Amino acid sequence: MKEYLKNAEQLGLRDKLFRTSFKPDTENHLRVNQEVCKECSERVCLNVCPAEVYTEGDDGLIVVGFEGCLECGTCRISCTREAIDWINPKGGFGVCYRFG
Ligand code: SF4
Ligand code: SF4
Repeated sequence: MKEYLKNAEQLGLRDKLFRTSFKPDTENHLRVNQEVCKECSERVCLNVCPAEVYTEGDDGLIVVGFEGCLECGTCRISCTREAIDWINPKGGFGVCYRFG
């Protein structure tokens, strides 16, 4: 069976992500409070995001690759310190789910 004809249930996460497209906004819609993050030892944002938007820089600061955000909201509810200022990208920008 051709790859693109497989049911969504049969696909791995990477294949599913491949079926999305993005029109990144010029403004970051996911702002983290670095002052709060500095004191955070759990750093759950590094593990919960399915698109790996959050990474840790060499300086220990949280780096946000907002362009690949799937707008699922997981990080927003997972950060127990409420350090993420999460809004939707402007209309016409952000993720586009092409195949459901
Ligand atoms: S965004 Fe939240 S979970 Fe991530 S480092 Fe900052 S405080 Fe911790
Ligand atoms: S909304 Fe979802 S995809 Fe976007 S940064 Fe948060 S966890 Fe990752």
